[in-house]
Amino acid sequence: MNRIELLAPAGNLEKAKTAIRYGADAVYIGGKQFSLRSRASNFTLDDIAELVHFANDHHAKVHVTVNLLPHDEDLDGLADYLKALDKAGVHAIIVASPAIMKLAQKLNCRFEIHVSTQHSSTNSNAVRFWKKQGVDRVVLGRECTLEEIKAICAHDILPIEAFIHGGMCISYSGRCVLSNHMTLRDANRGGCAQSCRWKYHLMDDGKEISDPGDLFSMSSRDLQAVRYIEALMRCNVASLKIEGRMKSAYYLATVVSSYRRLIDLIYEKGHADEEDMKKVIAEIGKAENRPTGPGFYEGVPDENVQLYVDHDEIVTQEFVAEVLDYDPFTKTAMLQVKNHFLPNQTMEIFGPNIPATRVPVGAIEDENGNILEVCNRPMQIVYTKWDGPIEKNAMIRKVRQS
Ligand code: SF4
Repeated sequence: MNRIELLAPAGNLEKAKTAIRYGADAVYIGGKQFSLRSRASNFTLDDIAELVHFANDHHAKVHVTVNLLPHDEDLDGLADYLKALDKAGVHAIIVASPAIMKLAQKLNCRFEIHVSTQHSSTNSNAVRFWKKQGVDRVVLGRECTLEEIKAICAHDILPIEAFIHGGMCISYSGRCVLSNHMTLRDANRGGCAQSCRWKYHLMDDGKEISDPGDLFSMSSRDLQAVRYIEALMRCNVASLKIEGRMKSAYYLATVVSSYRRLIDLIYEKGHADEEDMKKVIAEIGKAENRPTGPGFYEGVPDENVQLYVDHDEIVTQEFVAEVLDYDPFTKTAMLQVKNHFLPNQTMEIFGPNIPATRVPVGAIEDENGNILEVCNRPMQIVYTKWDGPIEKNAMIRKVRQS
């Protein structure tokens, strides 16, 4: 098996650093311009330069999405932007428009050019076509089955990137104008309002056929590909991609570290057994709030992979604090509060080097040494004695009562 890349999304600098600390080999981000996800908190050029520096120090890479489908009016300033990305040292750009690909090549930028999933590349001839265009990697359409991915990789044409986790479009990825029609927000220029997930009255011939108490929606389950990782590694996919530039740092830490441990375990043992995968699925479930499924990996998804009506949101296991520092001599942890929690409870800690571990937490003090009855001020710095595994940047969450 070749070394595979675990590629994580990030909506801002803090999230990108978290993803890298928790095991991502690369992160993909969007700048303030020319990127989809315009509602995500996107990166300034200074942020991008800082992130490249951080990534290089951690042997990781930075891919920048330049993936809007530009109209002529959107092209102003593009050449300067690409030159600035090149100067910042980014490792790759992810592109949907041939105009942007060709401009990057003309400018002799040093970064790689990756073809976005928006091109719906789902066969080896499409990959061959992109090779002739001089690109360096193809992100396959999310609509490929596992067998199709294996067949494409067997041709060994270009490095292949495949989605393994996160939200799915109910339409062909990147080929949907539902949001444009419903909200005048252009999905291919960063404005998708996720209109597919709204609740609709389903009408036929003037008669409502949906239950008015249970309106019709077109949402699909999120993708979760734990059971396919080993096969993807064996067929020499170059990169495993997690979706979700709008997701929280806690979500990223949980999902990235889970896949990281699974990938490393497969390298070490040569195989992941059922128990290994169940543990990873349970761990990922602590950050999920939507039902998940196999996407297209098993074939065209049937109704079991769709969410046509209201569904139970799974309660996320709540992230309550981040470890800012630890003094091993006094065994005192410095925490930053993220969500409401009560002292004197068993909590779960996990970190870049710590698998999820339950630890009894005692009294909590504020910066003036006052004992707190409750921690309910987000960003407050608090202190507690810690007797268990701990490391800087570890995350602490409530133990889910089942
Ligand atoms: S409306 Fe739904 S299917 Fe269309 S682009 Fe947005 S998320 Fe995808």
